[in-house]
Amino acid sequence: MGASFAESLFDRQERLGWWRQDVLRSARILVVGAGALGNETLKNLALLGARWLLIVDNDDISSSNLSRTVLFHLTDVGRRKAAVAAERVQALCREATGGVRAIDADLVWDVGLGVFRRVDLVLGCVDNDEARLAINRAARAVGIPWINAGMYELTGSVTAFAPEDGPCFACAATPDQIADAQSRYDSCEQVRRRYLAEERLPTIQVTSALTSALQVQEALKVLHHAPVAFGVRYVYNGWTNSFHAIQLPYDPHCLAHGRLGTVLELPLGVDAPLGHVLDVLATRFGSGIQVHLDRRYIRRIACRWCGRPLLLERPAHRLYDDELICPTCQTTGGTAASGTFHTPAKEGYIEVVTSFSSYRFGNQPLTNDVAERTLRQLGIPPLHILTVEDRHGRHWSCELTGDLATTLGDWGRCARSAV
Ligand SMILES: [Zn+2]
Ligand SMILES: [Zn+2]
Repeated sequence: MGASFAESLFDRQERLGWWRQDVLRSARILVVGAGALGNETLKNLALLGARWLLIVDNDDISSSNLSRTVLFHLTDVGRRKAAVAAERVQALCREATGGVRAIDADLVWDVGLGVFRRVDLVLGCVDNDEARLAINRAARAVGIPWINAGMYELTGSVTAFAPEDGPCFACAATPDQIADAQSRYDSCEQVRRRYLAEERLPTIQVTSALTSALQVQEALKVLHHAPVAFGVRYVYNGWTNSFHAIQLPYDPHCLAHGRLGTVLELPLGVDAPLGHVLDVLATRFGSGIQVHLDRRYIRRIACRWCGRPLLLERPAHRLYDDELICPTCQTTGGTAASGTFHTPAKEGYIEVVTSFSSYRFGNQPLTNDVAERTLRQLGIPPLHILTVEDRHGRHWSCELTGDLATTLGDWGRCARSAV
C-alpha cells in the first residue's frame, strides 16, 4: 500500500485544520468493555484510522447483545466478547496493522497496572461503577487520561478525566455508587457474592451510538491536545435533544489520587516463585524488604460455631461467599448467607495475607512450601506493578516487566506515543 493511497483514505478528516492523522495512527487506546458502547467506540476508532487498540472484556456474547453490537454476528453467541471484537475491529482498520489485541480478563483484578502505563488513553465502556472506579484508580496511578461513558434509556453521559489533577470519577461518586460497587463483595471477608441481582439497564442501540460518538469525539480532542473540559459531565437527553454540563466536585482527600512514583522495570514475571522474587528484590534493594499485595489472600477461616478451620489458600477476589460454608455445621442451617463464618468479633478466626517478606507471609513465618508459590497464585495479574518497601520504609513501584511479551505482544515493543 503506497503512502499516497494511505493519505487519501482519510482525506476528509485531514482537511480539518488541526487534524493529524499520525496522532490516530500512533495512539495507543485501551477500550474497557466490548458491549454496546464498546462496539460502537471500537468501530468509530477503527474507521478514524486508529490502529493500536487494546480491548478488555471478560464476558460471553449473548443473543441479547446482538441488537446493539455491530461487531458481533448471530453465530458468535457463546464466544468471548474481547476476542471476537478484536478480530472484527482488526478487519475494520483501514490500514494494515496487527495492532488490535484482546485481553480476556476482569478489569478490576486481573489487568496489571503495567498495561495502563503503556497506553495513551483509556475509554471506559462499562456498565457498572465498580469497573469505573477501578479504571479511574489505575489511570490516575499511572497518570493517563480516561473518558467515561454511560447510558440509560435515551440518556447518555460522557466525562473526560485529566491524567494528574482536577476531579476524578471517585471524587464525584455518590454513596449509592460506592455501595453498589461494594455490594458485589461480602462485607466482612470481601469475597465475591455468587448471586448478584445484576441490573439489566434498559437501552437501545441509537443511544449507545450517540454516546459513543460523543466519547470518541472527546478522545480525538484529548489525543490532539486540543482544549477539553476535564471533569465536566456532559449529559445528553434523547427525549428533549438537550445537553447539560455538570462540573464535577473536587475532593482534596479523595483516596483515588495516589500517583505511583518512578516505575522500575524488573525482569520478573507473575509465574516467578515468591522465593525468587524476594532474591531479585534483595539484590536491588537490600535485605529486609517487604512486598505489598494491594489485595487480600485468604489462607484459612474458622467456623464461628464449631471452630473447624476451612483451608482456602486463595485470593479473596477468586472466592465466592457460598464457598465459606462449614462442612460440619451446614446441616444445622448455617449458610454463607446467614453468616456461618462471618463474625469479625472472634479474634483470629481468619488468616489473611496482604504482604510478605523474606521472613513472613502475612503474620506467619515464610516456609519453604510458601516460597515456592507464584505471584499468580497470590492473585497478582501479569504485568502488575508491585509496591515494595525497603528496610528504611521507602516505597518502590516495581513492574513485572517479564510479562510484557506474553501480555501485550507487539504492543510491548513500542513506547507510548505521548505523555
Ligand atoms: Zn478524586
Ligand atoms: Zn462449623
